[in-house]
Amino acid sequence: MTEFKKDDGVRFCPQCGSPSVDFSQLVGSVAQCRACDWQGRSDSLLIVPLKHDFVNGEEALVRMMGDLRSLLAGEVGVPYLRFLLKWGFVKADQQNIAGTLDRKMFSRYLAVIGQAIIKALLEERVKIDLEEHNGAAR
Ligand SMILES: [Zn+2]
Repeated sequence: MTEFKKDDGVRFCPQCGSPSVDFSQLVGSVAQCRACDWQGRSDSLLIVPLKHDFVNGEEALVRMMGDLRSLLAGEVGVPYLRFLLKWGFVKADQQNIAGTLDRKMFSRYLAVIGQAIIKALLEERVKIDLEEHNGAAR
């Protein structure tokens, strides 16, 4: 079985899921998140061995986020808008949603929906990889 090299993959803050982390490859070294106040050992960072052709994992993540944003900005955004309207997260006149919607607020919610989706996907991917790894070791 081929092991993933240390450099293959994207590292994420275990607290907030941000890829903006400063770390060193040295075992037991200290890592720090630039997006929140997390600090800890480099080996507690989440590492997702994503397959990508980009220069680095951070770039891959930015592109992945961009893909998801275009999804949410298109047809996929419509059911989210209905949901947000129904539960009062955004307000708009039902007779004229397009003309009265607080677009800034809607975009803000869409952005965090996107972040949460990516974070959940990556965390699940880590779990799946661990399960497969453990299964293979038996
Ligand atoms: Zn963080």
